[in-house]
Amino acid sequence: MGLVRESTQAVKEVPSAQPAATRPDPPRPPRPTPRAVTPAAAYAPPSDPIGCPTPGTVAAAASLPALCQVIQGCLACPLGPGRMKFVFGEGDPSARLMFVGEGPGRDEDLQGRPFVGKAGELLDKMIGALGLKREDTYIANCVKCRPPDNRTPTPEEARACLGYLHRQIELIQPAVIVTLGATPLRELAGVPEGITKARGQWRRVKVGDREIPLMPTFHPAYVLRQYTQEVRRAVWADLKAAKEWIDKAESPEA
Ligand code: SF4
Repeated sequence: MGLVRESTQAVKEVPSAQPAATRPDPPRPPRPTPRAVTPAAAYAPPSDPIGCPTPGTVAAAASLPALCQVIQGCLACPLGPGRMKFVFGEGDPSARLMFVGEGPGRDEDLQGRPFVGKAGELLDKMIGALGLKREDTYIANCVKCRPPDNRTPTPEEARACLGYLHRQIELIQPAVIVTLGATPLRELAGVPEGITKARGQWRRVKVGDREIPLMPTFHPAYVLRQYTQEVRRAVWADLKAAKEWIDKAESPEA
């Protein structure tokens, strides 16, 4: 009570220079001058055939290094001019298990390698828990260049890059693809649902003349943000299902 009384008294004791009725209005701040809105310049991919390889050039690449060689100068979408390094992907060129994420982040852009930051460390741990090493798998992303501020690639950017990812998959011929996050699931399997709903349900992706089983799960960056037992259990169940599918499909009795 003492405190309240003191506080009330303090408020009452604030001197008023003039009675409220005759006090002039405070001067108004000057109105901001409206700024002209400049529309974002439309991105025009260069017509240079080296910068933007044709679908025929991509299809003719007979190995992963050859594919990387023909697409590494790509400027086909607005992400190209802003990249530090092109992030093609890495791992076993004949991997049975392939991971596809959304796009490179800051660390990946600096190093030119996929999943090398905190999310990459977690992915490595998850791969290790399956009894595999990172280099036993293949790791790539939907887009090969970093979206600014690590934002999610737009559907247009992902689609501009999709032909490269398809050719990568055709060359690797994985037994199973695990998609990390919503973007690769949408682009590869055409599933528009949120990942929380879609994860853990087998899908198929048609690449060339093959249909490859696809297991959607959460992106490791999401797992780091939502580090709950429920999320970790869900990811573990999805990865285990993928590994068991490979083991079963490739066992001599299959
Ligand atoms: S993200 Fe893909 S399509 Fe866009 S510039 Fe990079 S390589 Fe080309």
